[in-house]
Parts: sequence; structure tokens; C-alpha cells
Amino acid sequence: MQNQVALIVGQGLAGTLLSFRLKQRGISHLVIDQGIKTNATQAAAGLVNPITGRYFTKTWLFEKLLASLDPCYDELGELLDETFKKNIVIWRALNSIAQENQWAQRMSDPIYEGYFSHVGSIKNQLPYFSNDLPYVQINHARKVDIGLLMKKYRQHLSANSQLLEEPFNYDNLHWTNNSWHYKGNAYSVVFFAEGYQAIHNPFFNYLPFKPAKGEALITKTNVVEDIAIKNNLFLAKETNGHFWSGGGYDWVTEDPSPTTKFREDYKSKLEAWLNHDFEIVDHKAGIRPCVKDRKPFLGEHPEQKKLYIFNGLGTKGTSLGPYFSEQLVAHIFENTSITPEVDILRFS
Ligand SMILES: Cc1cc2nc3c(=O)[nH]c(=O)nc-3n(C[C@H](O)[C@H](O)[C@H](O)COP(=O)(O)OP(=O)(O)OC[C@H]3O[C@@H](n4cnc5c(N)ncnc54)[C@H](O)[C@@H]3O)c2cc1C
Repeated sequence: MQNQVALIVGQGLAGTLLSFRLKQRGISHLVIDQGIKTNATQAAAGLVNPITGRYFTKTWLFEKLLASLDPCYDELGELLDETFKKNIVIWRALNSIAQENQWAQRMSDPIYEGYFSHVGSIKNQLPYFSNDLPYVQINHARKVDIGLLMKKYRQHLSANSQLLEEPFNYDNLHWTNNSWHYKGNAYSVVFFAEGYQAIHNPFFNYLPFKPAKGEALITKTNVVEDIAIKNNLFLAKETNGHFWSGGGYDWVTEDPSPTTKFREDYKSKLEAWLNHDFEIVDHKAGIRPCVKDRKPFLGEHPEQKKLYIFNGLGTKGTSLGPYFSEQLVAHIFENTSITPEVDILRFS
């Protein structure tokens, strides 16, 4: 029997970051993941966007999140000999008078100072687009290749004999002699980080998940600049030079496959927006672990001791993940507190 300190179930972005936080402390652990083909992380753009939504709202805790995510993704890059993160400016179209007014209101609010830098026509600067709406630039944004990060981290775990690639069977988890036992091994703590599939976890399926499927087309375009630009869809340059464009919210399905409907819809949106031909080279889909109150799920099971959840990263895993993975691991091993808004105690 092998005794390790921790077991992590799931190796999307959440499980990857938990494992990294344990590794930073030299805490032994094993990760179990059944496969990444349809998880949310492989489909995501990995954008860290400080200002989102139709009301141009600043992301909750943004300064704290940024201070945590920059060193986290940089250190992961050093560990895995890759560059995962780049600093970007997001160009955002102002699609209506109402949006222009909303943006103007934000400009005069001191908490938004420094987040917007320029507004104007893009015709002369980026001559690839058919419309000539006014655009605003959003600063302090990042793009992180979280799909590549997850794959590279998986290879790292595998090389260190820390990965089991198989489905986790909840019936085989037992608490005896002050530790959790799974398939002959003992663990002091167990973390669940299964993304939306936690709706099938018998310990945590009482939490109010609200899974939301999204999709993305990967295209080759004539756009040369390394940009991220948003009109009625996002176009963001990937590490390999292709453009990611995606979104969509299907709240009812558990089928993670790409759909013809999305492909046709986004293809025609791109045709209307880009003034040149483009080629679709890939089509991805994934189900986001969204939550009814839009805050992550962190903490210990109310009755089963030493059983933790790290989930509910929703549409903002790239921003939320580094800060809250650190918070959860510090809570367990250094006895620090959990932000009440994300603590699962809010549902007990
Ligand atoms: C189209 C799209 C675009 C997105 N764009 C962005 C973006 O630009 N910026 C951003 O911040 N976020 C974005 N997101 C959201 C982001 O992808 C998520 O917040 C994040 O990836 C969630 O990570 P996770 O690890 O919780 O879940 P997942 O990535 O789904 O990983 C869960 C893992 O657990 C494993 N698992 C589940 N159950 C079991 C089991 N019983 N046994 C073994 N393994 C199991 C699965 O195989 C999977 O690998 C986007 C999502 C989508 C779908």
C-alpha cells in the first residue's frame, strides 16, 4: 500500500492548479482523470478579461486575481519549459448607443481607471473587418493557453508516476483509520475537481451547478496582428497563429459534441464580420462548470471530513483558478480562511 497525502479527482484546469499548489509545497499526491477530449479546458480561449458583459462590469476581485495568476502561470511555464501566458489588449466594439453610454459612465468611475485606453475607428489600424463601429481597448487582459498547459502538465504528472488515466469510481472510496482509502492506497485528503461532471458525484451533487455548453471554431484568417477582438463574437489569436472564436450557452444538454448549428451560426457571423475568406481548421466543444450564484465552490464536505471540492469556475476559470486553488490549499495545510462568498458552507 502506498500512502500519499492527497488524491485529486479531475485534471482539467482546476485539478491541474490544485496539483501545482501541492507541488509548490512538496506535498505528495496522485491525480485521477478519465480523459480530456471533451472537458471545458480544452475548448476554452483562456482569456483573462477584466471587463465583461453588456454593462462593462469589472471582474470580481480582479486585482487580487491578477496578482495571483501572473506568477502562477509564469512558474508553470518555467516548470514545463513553455510560455503559456501573454499580456494582451482586448478590442471591444460598441454596438449601440446604449453601450457607448454605458462605457462613458464607466470611464468616469474611479474603480475603472486605467482599464480603458482608447476608443475610435479600427478601419485604418485593423483593415480586416467589414463594419466600422467605434471600439474601446480594455487593458490588463491576458490570454493563457490553458489547453496546452493541461496537456503539458499531464505529461509531467505521467512522467512522475502521479497520474491514473481512468474513471474514478466513487463506490470504492472509504474512510477508515483516519484516512481515505481508494484501490489499496491511503490518502489524508481527497479533492474533487471534476468540472461539470461533479453533478454525478454522490458527495457534492447537492450543490447548485448550472452546466453551460460552449463551442469554438478555430480558423485561419488573414489577420496578422496578435489581437483579441470582440464584436458579436470573440476572435483571439492562439499560440499557433490560428484564431479562436467561440461562445454560446446551452444550459440543457450533457452532450459535449460540437454541433452543426453552432458551426453554421458562427461561420455566418464570421463571414459578415471579416472582409476576407477564412478556413475553419477545428471545431471544439465543452461544458463549463457554471454555478447558479456565479461563484466558485470551495471547501470541505459538511459531513465527510477531509473531502474537499474545487469547482464552479464557470466562464472565468483562467482568472479565478490560480487565486482560489492557492486559497483552498493554504486553508487545508496552513489553516487560513476561505472567502465566505465561495465557501460551500453557504449552501448548508
Ligand atoms: C467554449 C468555451 C470557452 C471558454 N472560454 C474561457 C475563457 O476565455 N476564459 C476563461 O477563464 N474560461 C473560459 N471557459 C471556461 C473554462 O474552460 C472553465 O472555467 C475551466 O476550464 C473549468 O475547468 P475544470 O477543471 O473545472 O473542468 P474541466 O476542464 O471540465 O475538467 C474536469 C476534468 O475532470 C475529469 N473527470 C470528471 N469526472 C471524472 C471522474 N469521475 N473520474 C475521472 N475524471 C473525471 C474530466 O475528464 C476532466 O478532464 C470556456 C469554456 C468553454 C466551454
